[in-house]
Parts: sequence; C-alpha cells; structure tokens
Amino acid sequence: MIYLDNNATTRVAPEVVEAMLPYLTEFFGNSSSAHTLGRTMKQAIEQAREQVATLIGAADTSEIVFTSCGSESDNWAIRGALAAQPGKKHIVTTLVEHEAVRNVCLGLEREGYEVTWVGVNEKGDIDLDALRDALRPDTALVSVMLANNETGVLFPVNEIGHIVHERSQALFHVDGVQAVGKIPIDLTNVDLFALSGHKLHAPQGIGALYIRKGISLPSFIIGGAQEQGRRAGTSAVPNIVGLGVACKLASDDLADDDHSHIRRLRDRLENGILENIPNARRNGDAVNRLPNTSNISFEYVEGQNILLHLDQLDICVSTGSACHSTTHESSATLRAMNVPYTAAQGSIRFSLGRYNTDEDIETTLRVLPEVIEKLAAMSPYAEVSSGHRKDL
Ligand code: PLP
Repeated sequence: MIYLDNNATTRVAPEVVEAMLPYLTEFFGNSSSAHTLGRTMKQAIEQAREQVATLIGAADTSEIVFTSCGSESDNWAIRGALAAQPGKKHIVTTLVEHEAVRNVCLGLEREGYEVTWVGVNEKGDIDLDALRDALRPDTALVSVMLANNETGVLFPVNEIGHIVHERSQALFHVDGVQAVGKIPIDLTNVDLFALSGHKLHAPQGIGALYIRKGISLPSFIIGGAQEQGRRAGTSAVPNIVGLGVACKLASDDLADDDHSHIRRLRDRLENGILENIPNARRNGDAVNRLPNTSNISFEYVEGQNILLHLDQLDICVSTGSACHSTTHESSATLRAMNVPYTAAQGSIRFSLGRYNTDEDIETTLRVLPEVIEKLAAMSPYAEVSSGHRKDL
C-alpha cells in the first residue's frame, strides 16, 4: 500500500508503540492513585508533558493540558475563551478553518454571537487588512489555523498575534493540528494552541491544548481534578506516553533534516504531475505551505472517482473536504480561494509522511496519468478537456 493521506491520519511510529506497550500491560494503574503504581503513571504523564512542551516551545510544562483530540482542544479553546469573557460577543475567524473551528463558530452565531469571517486570496493566504479591520473592543477571541488541512498553506500566526494584541484585548487561539511535527512552532504571540497526536505518528484519541500561563479557562469536561483541575477524566496514560514519544521523534526529525526528505518527495510528485498531466493545477501557495502537502485539481474529472481508482491500485489519497458527496458543493477552503467549480470538484490532496519512499512516488507518477486519462475520457466534459470540442 502507498499511503499519501498523512493529513488525515498517520501510521503510529514503531517507537511509539514500543513506549506505549508497558502502559497497556504491567503499568495499568490510575494516575490519580496514591500508591506506587499510580505514581509511576503520573511520572509517565509528566515526562510526556515535557516532551510536548519542548516540541512546541512552551515556556512551562504547566501550560500543556492533555485532551482527547484536536477537536476537543479547539472546542475548549473557543468556548472557554468566551466563557472567560462573558461581556464580549464578537469572534474573528477565517473562511478556511477546519470543521472543528468552523462548526463551533457557526453554532455560536446561532446562539447570538457575532462572527467575522476573514477571507483569503486565490493562493489561500490570509487577508491581514481584513483581519486588522475586524478587531473591535468587544472581540473576545481570534481563532485561526496555522496550517490548512487541505492545501497546507500557512498563516503568519506570529504577525497575526501581534496585530490582535496590539489592537484589541481579544485572546488569540491557533489551531495548530496540521502543523505540529511538520514545521517549527513559535508561540511568541499565541494564547491558546491546539494539537492532535494522530497527525504526528501518535495514536488516535489524544490531543493537547496549550494555555499560556496567566490565562484561565473554565473546564470543558467537568468531573475529577485531573490535569490540575483543568480537564476531568481518568488520564489516558498509554496515549499520553505515545504522544510524548511522538513529539520527541518529531523534535529529532526537525533538528536532523527539517523535513527536507518529505519536501523533496512532495516536490517530485507535484512537479511530475503538473508536467505530465494535462489540465492539472496546484491549489494553494507554492512556497508558503507545509512541506508534505500538495493539493492538485484535475480539471473536468471527479475527485471522488480518482480516489476510488487509486484505491484499487492500493494508493491512498484524499479529496480532503473537497466534495461533500450529498451536496456536491466544493470545499469551503477552495471556494474561499475562488477555485472554479470544475477544478474544485477534481481536487486531490496528496499528503506525505515520514515513511514515504522514492518508490512510492515513482509508482504514483507511473499509474496516475492513465487513471486521469481514462476518467477524463468518460467525463461529460471530455471533449472540452481534450480540446476537441469545436463549438466552444
Ligand atoms: N484542525 C485541523 C486543521 C485538522 O486538520 C483536524 C483534523 O483533521 C482537526 C482540527 C481535528 O483534529 P482531531 O481529528 O484530532 O479531532
């Protein structure tokens, strides 16, 4: 199998599995218990907290709170920031956020909050002037992503945080789920920051929220006093240990080669496609993006059909949220970037990871042109796409 869907989830690293195993066998205690076994669990959690803090550059380990996933971290950050500032009813976010932020903000609109949705240009870069103009005295929260899950395009969160704090009293939340482990993180101007284990070779079901020292959010999950009373629920120690080791591996990767291996493979794949397949175009800024992501539209061909054909050849890719099968609406991100409908429908996200090889890319480049040619010939736009239609 050739796995090119690492933005959806990643294979758990063997080192992570190895580190987790003792906590699924002999170390089975509850980290809240006062006996030796409980203390062993607690120590493992604190080591993992340190590993997470080191990867994202948190000043203090107490700024890291473990959650169940990136979505929980985003939900908590947004709802918590609003609950902490009850008088303020305005939120600023963008048109290209993941559902974990977008759907929370849409829900808040229905509850009476006012949301300003900042747009992007055709490359997916944020409109900083619009963001600046959106800030008001009653803005409680600005929430933006660091890296877009569909295109990999990066937002300048350091600069955005600077603008937010210079021009308002709002808290600044960053959805860092797609960025952590792929690029260095700078929390200088960030108040809240969400991450998720399964995007960086830890298991599914573990995430974290960075809460800058001095900021107090009401608990999102109510119950016991775990996580210094900030997030109730018996700690998922095996998963937490897994996240810690995954963060350590990612720190080592970034120090070793800054993901140049993945970037080289991604560029080889992308250039090969753009040079050899007619009507293929990249979506998103060529430079200002994650090193592992390439979003390409094969115009006049259905992305869903490409995905299924590649799946039969044991190649995993994604249409991202490019096409909602029931509505046939293009993805909000591609619409915000003004990608034409016929291109948005044919968009495929290739997202590479640590375990991809040159051979994976060679095979994909060998089989893809035939898949696209076959589908283009069956497409209702076939004559247009092959350039034979005379009446246009
Ligand atoms: N934010 C972004 C940008 C994502 O890509 C994802 C997952 O795809 C999430 C949040 C949600 O993370 P999780 O799957 O851990 O809930």
